[in-house]
Amino acid sequence: EAFYRDLPKVELHAHLNGSVSVPTMERLIARKPHLNVQHSMTAIHKGQRRTLDECFHMFRIIHQLIDSEEDLFMVTKDVVKEYALDGVKYLELRSTPREEKHTGPYWVMLIWSILAAICYRTAEVLLEKRFLVAIDRRNGPEVAMETVKMAEDFMLSSDGLVVGLDLSGDPTVGHCRDLMPALQKARSAGLKLALHLSEVPTQREETELLLTLPPDRIGHGTFLHPEVGGSQALVDAVRQGNIPLELCLTSNVKGQTVPSYEKHHFQYWYRLGHPCVLCADDKGVFGTDLSQEYQLAASTFGLSQEAVWTLSEQAIGCIFAPESVKQELKQKWADLRPFVN
Ligand code: 5GP
Repeated sequence: EAFYRDLPKVELHAHLNGSVSVPTMERLIARKPHLNVQHSMTAIHKGQRRTLDECFHMFRIIHQLIDSEEDLFMVTKDVVKEYALDGVKYLELRSTPREEKHTGPYWVMLIWSILAAICYRTAEVLLEKRFLVAIDRRNGPEVAMETVKMAEDFMLSSDGLVVGLDLSGDPTVGHCRDLMPALQKARSAGLKLALHLSEVPTQREETELLLTLPPDRIGHGTFLHPEVGGSQALVDAVRQGNIPLELCLTSNVKGQTVPSYEKHHFQYWYRLGHPCVLCADDKGVFGTDLSQEYQLAASTFGLSQEAVWTLSEQAIGCIFAPESVKQELKQKWADLRPFVN
């Protein structure tokens, strides 16, 4: 619907390689026919669901298709453009420097190709963009530390493009205890922390530990509240710290960490008046976009258009870019506001 596409939006939780659209994916598949990839292996279509494990398998296939500077440049340029066409005015993309094949200077080169594509500006793509370097927890503490060092270097040399660090990857692999030194180092270097947290029910101990950092934003936080096996103490810690939640409805339903849209924890946190930011997570893999996520939240939870507007506007307060950018965005929202006060 036009209202949701025209609604100015902020995207704060977008994994680059999960955000690749069907047309871009088709180009990648055509470039690498020897991999024998079918489309059903890289995206979850309407009405389908997968386990979280199957989702992580999809990322492994996608990573085979996107593994060079050229691939990353093309993919990033396309993803940024698609977000712009979807009405997004501020985008924070995140991606994991991949270790499997490339280490050292080549790692850095790959990130530079992403940043170069993020900087690429055309008349139709005029949105603010930032980048978070991601740690895949599966790769363990040494790689995490290396990633943090790299992110610090980028923060100093990227003219403000790199603003923070993401912690993601399969939540059932490894323990965050081992990653704490890297995360602490990132924090004291001034990198903002957006951490996947309480994504599956077994992460309570980890969550308690990560909240001591504390993170600047929480990804998912699906199992924080007592009704789903979390605790009041966890909820209180998140509320006292006023730590925004990045919430991804379609991703959580299709990845089966929540049973239905109606049961999504958006409802719990929104009712508390806690800062909630709707995000797409992996718009390619989950076959969605940010407009659709806003529309879904509105139809599922009965939000008025004005409430939806307020929700998108409040997301500005949660971005990692500096205050001056927040002010510019607030002005943009004020200029575009369709309601009579
Ligand atoms: P990339 O970092 O390669 O650009 O994007 C894909 C990666 O993001 C995946 O391999 C995974 O590490 C991470 N990722 C994407 N979606 C999710 C998610 O829903 N949960 C978690 N924990 N990690 C994710």
